[in-house]
Amino acid sequence: MKTFSDILNQYEWENIRERIQLKTTTDVINALSSQNRSIEDFMALVSPAASFFIEEMAQQSHAATVKRFGKTIQMFIPMYLSNECQNICTYCGFSLGNKIPRKTLSEKEIEKEIELIKELGFDHILVLTGEDRIHSDFNYILNSIKKIKPHFSNLSIEVQPFEQDEYEKLIEAGCDAVLVYQETYNRNVYKQYHTKGKKSNFDYRLQTPDRLGKAGIHKIGIGALLGLEDWRTEVFFLALHLRYLQKNYWKTQYSISLPRIRPAEGVDDTQYLMNDKEFVQLICALRLFDGEIELTLSTREAEGFREKLIPLGITNLSAGAKTNPGGYDKPDESLEQFEISDERSPEEMKKVISALGYETVWKNWDKGLAFHKS
Ligand code: SF4
Repeated sequence: MKTFSDILNQYEWENIRERIQLKTTTDVINALSSQNRSIEDFMALVSPAASFFIEEMAQQSHAATVKRFGKTIQMFIPMYLSNECQNICTYCGFSLGNKIPRKTLSEKEIEKEIELIKELGFDHILVLTGEDRIHSDFNYILNSIKKIKPHFSNLSIEVQPFEQDEYEKLIEAGCDAVLVYQETYNRNVYKQYHTKGKKSNFDYRLQTPDRLGKAGIHKIGIGALLGLEDWRTEVFFLALHLRYLQKNYWKTQYSISLPRIRPAEGVDDTQYLMNDKEFVQLICALRLFDGEIELTLSTREAEGFREKLIPLGITNLSAGAKTNPGGYDKPDESLEQFEISDERSPEEMKKVISALGYETVWKNWDKGLAFHKS
């Protein structure tokens, strides 16, 4: 079986970028009227030519999302267990070279965070750590899952990549989903952003979803950090990766996250920053490409803008999020991984979602849906 690295190697980044730029109005119209959209259609939908069709894309995207998910938004909350990290990623506050207070939660501190998060009403939790082989190694993650899972119906993790047999143990302990973002699919620039540590190994990271699929995970989350490269080319490869995984691990569900670098986050090279209109175009294009995929929006996006995105195709949101370890108990004790733009509480967010005519779902229901489908 061909790995996704093999497939990726068949493409030239520049060539794809040019092909997207050359898509025409006719290509966009054809893509919009297609019933079964191909990767070529997706290229048209993310092209500059499609920027004149945002209204139509938004209408179709809204209809497709409501058809599949109803008027619901699933809520989740992140729990950071550790900000120790042995990698250098130039865009991240937890990067090894950054002189910040480091912290890894003890069992007692994890218990306190569980208690505070449960009080907020969440039943779907995303557990995160930096990538550290001492403080948040496999056993730490395994034991944390065993401790946290009994309190939540759904547990996802975003931690360092592991081997297939290790994932099998995490699944057995109650892990429902693993999120692993490639950050950028451009092999040539990946190294500039990931200069040290295990994450600098492009192919090992790229093949992590395969190890997860083979381990039989319920859901895999993939994504790219928008702003590291030309977004149109980036998401072409993201969509290609999605199709590859769906074909090979068809029992697994998939979600895509759309973290977007904000100008204030200290990234030197801002030439690839994506504006709001382009971001809307991307959400709609992804929904039109895949009606089944969950689309997650982070609290990096600003308040008013998050509301506008809800009816367009987003299915999952976080609220009241803290991005530092122990942040629900002691919010100011350690540095956050990234700055949060939307600081509204879960209750406030629920009211906003309700005012838009949507229902807030605190409990994860996709396992039930997966069961009915099979
Ligand atoms: S992005 Fe992840 S791996 Fe990179 S420095 Fe931040 S926490 Fe570490």
